[in-house]
Amino acid sequence: MSEKRLLQRRYDVVVVGGGPAGLFAAGMAAREGAEVLLLEKNHRCGAKLLITGKGRCNVTNSETDPRKFVEHFGRNGKAFLTALYAFGVTETIDFFEQYGLPLNIERGGRVFPAKGGARDVLKALERFVAEAGVTLATATDVTGLRLSENHVDAVQTAQGEVVADRVIVATGGLSYRETGCTGDGYRWARQTGHSVAKPVPSLVAVKLVEEWTSEVCNFNLRNVRITLLQNGRELDERFGEAFFTRSGIGGPIVLDMSAAIRKALQQGPVRLSLDLKPAVDPETFDRRIQRELEQQSNRDFRNVLGGLLPRDMIPLFIRLSEIPPEKKCHSVTREERRRLLSLFKELPLTVKSCGDFKRAIVTAGGVELSGIDMRSMRSKQVDNLYFAGEIIDLDGPTGGFNLQVCWSTGYLAGKNAAKVS
Ligand SMILES: Cc1cc2nc3c(=O)[nH]c(=O)nc-3n(C[C@H](O)[C@H](O)[C@H](O)COP(=O)(O)OP(=O)(O)OC[C@H]3O[C@@H](n4cnc5c(N)ncnc54)[C@H](O)[C@@H]3O)c2cc1C
Repeated sequence: MSEKRLLQRRYDVVVVGGGPAGLFAAGMAAREGAEVLLLEKNHRCGAKLLITGKGRCNVTNSETDPRKFVEHFGRNGKAFLTALYAFGVTETIDFFEQYGLPLNIERGGRVFPAKGGARDVLKALERFVAEAGVTLATATDVTGLRLSENHVDAVQTAQGEVVADRVIVATGGLSYRETGCTGDGYRWARQTGHSVAKPVPSLVAVKLVEEWTSEVCNFNLRNVRITLLQNGRELDERFGEAFFTRSGIGGPIVLDMSAAIRKALQQGPVRLSLDLKPAVDPETFDRRIQRELEQQSNRDFRNVLGGLLPRDMIPLFIRLSEIPPEKKCHSVTREERRRLLSLFKELPLTVKSCGDFKRAIVTAGGVELSGIDMRSMRSKQVDNLYFAGEIIDLDGPTGGFNLQVCWSTGYLAGKNAAKVS
């Protein structure tokens, strides 16, 4: 059937946005017996899903206790509990297994497909919606909602209007615009009387003043600790994986700290302190350095660092330590050794700025939860309007938490939008 003919029919439920939340909501509504149309502006669904987890897609997190899961979401976490109890981590894992995609738990509770990656997650979702009987119209840009009083009468597209009994908006946030996320749903939410908390880029890499980061950006720093400092005060601290980028620092622990860094930057200058050896206290590590220097006492200082640092970082450390590379190890002074120790234990990094929407993993802010009945995802302002996924004011850290928002809220929105007759 042509796209135009698809749009001319009346549907029980129209879902706007074919990301993970929209696909899941559409499949759930159709599985409940509703006639469902899913509208996606791109030629294919799931453009952002395909780049998740560097193409591997971290589907969810292994934390199965909803109360502990929501602790990762800050002040809005509690409101997410009902959705998680209705469709949580266990249900998500079972769902993908049913669709032929077994999952594995990795470091930090991150849950990934055991084989394959994001492409296979998308395939499973596409099979789900096809088998449930969802009608899919891609390359269909929704331009607005036609409203009367507190009711959506129709969904407006560039190709014409679709009459819908219920509408689910799952248009995502504002990051990675090239994936189709242009914030259209926020505009419609405001038009329907919803408050929208200011969208802010979140889970972003950080730009640093130090220019040497481009020399050391080709490898991961595993098991490091980063402390966020302002005026000598410690504001946050994370342990795990990071990496330098051409202009700063990124990786899971930096992304997870980025909201706190952004907030602190509004108050004044911000520093990070990188501990490359957090498992060892400074005294013990100092003894280790002393031992290395003694064992190689007649050799040049430049040879000492091999056992202590990734090879690519050695020239940088020699430079920053200000110890002449050809100085004999036995002549390295206590003061020089102290300087070297502090590079390992508290390498100072000066924050210039936080990344913008262009490369943010999620958008913080969005449709305020106070305007949504979080037991059904139905709008409190408009009786036949529902929201699901990143568009709502709920964002978590890295580790699979944000996609779980899509599965849980998509489940509730789909099931409840289908129910009303
Ligand atoms: C690089 C990257 C890596 C990530 N990795 C992970 C990860 O591993 N694990 C994790 O949990 N989260 C991850 N995330 C976050 C996760 O991808 C998002 O939270 C998730 O995709 C949000 O899903 P959504 O369905 O709400 O919105 P989206 O995925 O943004 O989908 C919204 C859809 O709506 C469509 N749309 C928008 N406006 C219109 C319109 N007017 N008409 C028609 N269609 C429209 C868009 O084209 C898009 O397809 C990652 C994000 C990025 C950017």
